[in-house]
Amino acid sequence: MSPSLIPVERILLGPGPSPVPQRVLRALGAPTLGHLDPQYLAIMDHTCEQLRQVFQTKNPLTFPVSGTGMAGMECLATNLIEPGDEVIVCVNGVFGTRMKDVMERCGATVHAVEATWGDVIALEQIIEALAKHPKTKLVGIVHAETSTGAHQPLEGFAEVIHAHGALFVVDAVTSLGGHELQVDAWGIDAIYSGTQKCLSCPPGLSPVSFGERALARMDARKTKPQSWYLDVSMLRKYYTGGGGGGGRVYHHTAPINMTYALHEALTMVLEEGLEARIARHAQMHQRLRTGLEKLGISYIPKRSLYSLNCLQIPAGAEDAVVRRRLLEEYGIEIGSGLGPMAGKAWRIGLMGYGASIRNVDLVLAALRAVL
Ligand SMILES: *Cc1c(COP(=O)(O)O)cnc(C)c1O
Repeated sequence: MSPSLIPVERILLGPGPSPVPQRVLRALGAPTLGHLDPQYLAIMDHTCEQLRQVFQTKNPLTFPVSGTGMAGMECLATNLIEPGDEVIVCVNGVFGTRMKDVMERCGATVHAVEATWGDVIALEQIIEALAKHPKTKLVGIVHAETSTGAHQPLEGFAEVIHAHGALFVVDAVTSLGGHELQVDAWGIDAIYSGTQKCLSCPPGLSPVSFGERALARMDARKTKPQSWYLDVSMLRKYYTGGGGGGGRVYHHTAPINMTYALHEALTMVLEEGLEARIARHAQMHQRLRTGLEKLGISYIPKRSLYSLNCLQIPAGAEDAVVRRRLLEEYGIEIGSGLGPMAGKAWRIGLMGYGASIRNVDLVLAALRAVL
């Protein structure tokens, strides 16, 4: 490869991808197996079991969708929605806005429940919307809104949503592996995530999990999902087909080497322990926050994520110049603001392997120098 095209080492402290440890990169380079090879199926089965542990669920239908986080979002929407369905989507940032768009493309009539970007959705707003739209089939919400850094509480939502016979659907792309998240205990019916945020794996897979209510909804469909590639009724015959090659049906060629990488990344999550990992994310967030406050930089959201720190750009600082200098002089990537926050916010991700004392102190020192 021409030297100028050989990727350099960056310190990825933006909204994702996050830094990938050597162990995970090495796993990617293992020999490619066939997607129906019994050894590969054993690796896939074990990966799904690890995903159940990290999602804290017993859902048999838990597997990595081929594609990034957006593929997971489309997979849930296309399988759980039939044209004409009424759904509620919580919109307080880029990803809630996208969820609304994706569900509309599936033929849903979407009732948006909104909050100012940076704020979270109150349970009362959902109660009100459900009362106003009693035919609602599904409520979609983003747990970790990466565009604003807002940390959405989810406890207590399921009871209200289930009382109306609706499904509780959650985007956990930036929370899985970095924040407290209990799929079964919180009554979540369907959830999707991504590999390149708090799991510290390269981008390319989207872990999803479907509970019994979601399965019942899919089994009762009168129409086929618009997407062939993401049709769970076919995918489940491959992913949960009984093990050892028996009963497995080819649908599409699984991203073999990405599965090795995800397996290794999940092994690292479970070795560290979920609780310890979340505590580390909390501690690194606090360390960064303390340092930023000393620099006079404040947070935009009131309830900030640990994994994504959305900051007000201080007066006098030039957004693009500061980010370019961080990248060129220090090799550090941080994120810019999105939508209404463009030019007003910086986003510092402390995700997975990236959430370390070394990285926090380095980005603080670099910011101090550049500002
Ligand atoms: C990153 C992200 C996505 C989209 O994931 P891609 O991997 O970019 O497709 C969806 N939702 C949230 C909250 C995200 O942070």
